[in-house]
Amino acid sequence: MSQKVKNFLVCTGIFVFVMGVMLVAAGFMKRSLDTDGAENGIVAEEVNDAAGNDSASDGIELEKEELENSEESENPNIEDDEEQDSGNAQNSIDESSEQEDANLDIEENDSNAQTEAGDSEAGGNEEDENATDIMNNSNVSEDQTDSNGAVKVIAIDAGHQLNGNSDKEPNGPGSSVMKAKVTSGATGVSSKVPEYVLTLEVSLKLKEVLLERGYEVVMIRETHEVDLSNAERAQIANESADLFIRIHANGADDASVSGALTIYPSKDNEYVAYMSEECESLSKAVVDGLCEATGAKNRGAVAMDNMSGINWCSIPVTIVEMGYLSNPQEDELMQQEAYQEKIAKGIADGIDAYVNKQYQ
Ligand SMILES: [Zn+2]
Repeated sequence: MSQKVKNFLVCTGIFVFVMGVMLVAAGFMKRSLDTDGAENGIVAEEVNDAAGNDSASDGIELEKEELENSEESENPNIEDDEEQDSGNAQNSIDESSEQEDANLDIEENDSNAQTEAGDSEAGGNEEDENATDIMNNSNVSEDQTDSNGAVKVIAIDAGHQLNGNSDKEPNGPGSSVMKAKVTSGATGVSSKVPEYVLTLEVSLKLKEVLLERGYEVVMIRETHEVDLSNAERAQIANESADLFIRIHANGADDASVSGALTIYPSKDNEYVAYMSEECESLSKAVVDGLCEATGAKNRGAVAMDNMSGINWCSIPVTIVEMGYLSNPQEDELMQQEAYQEKIAKGIADGIDAYVNKQYQ
């Protein structure tokens, strides 16, 4: 072999060796950089997990997991936000009513909703705006009712009866908490008209409006001489209807308190938590519809879990507290035929809005 050929081979060998070393070094540096990158990413997002990641492949796998996790959690995060947002509007009412839950006795006699009058004064303008929005919605919903086949049968319970029944029944399926089966209700402070009379008058008007709008109606009672506990009323509704509307009137120690509210079971309800959201939607729709139609102060939808007639339900339900029998002006107003017709129309508007999915 000539010297030239030897030199050429040696040079080529050295070149190949150097290139090889450079490639190996480059590869090593790249892996090292990836590891740092992955660890940095983890440190930024999950401080606790970052400490143990000393190999590049671990880091990369974790990065992928994080990506997958963040994709999966995107939707739940948005749902949570929406729930929080929609809850915020009711927070003041919910909290006060829940505090009252703890303080008040559990008799289902409507004194539960004695939110301080001063509280709701502050929100008056906001409530007016809400009511205006709903009026627009319900105008649309009236046109759409016929096309919706989901809810057809509405059960209406005219609250209370001629004689209360103080025998006890569980306040929910399997509950050890016992409550009076049904009370005779409040009495108008000025009109002296008992609640059970007012509730049936309005319930019969509501029945007519709903029939006109194409719903079927089941009346839990149409006379005063019945003996139906709150649990029994719920069970009749469960068996015969798609929605349950319970008509009541409110009472408060402070005679100046006025306005309408609706009641639904909270998400923590021991018996019917699964339909809390549906009931909340229904309750909001109904109280907004009622207040828009009557001009009553809107005290909102309030979560309460001590109502037998809700806890025994298996269909979306709301208690409508039309106004305060303890307020002389509102008491007299609720005795007026024309005002009762507005209440009935407003509740029906709310049912339409709920049925047409305008409250979600
Ligand atoms: Zn009542």
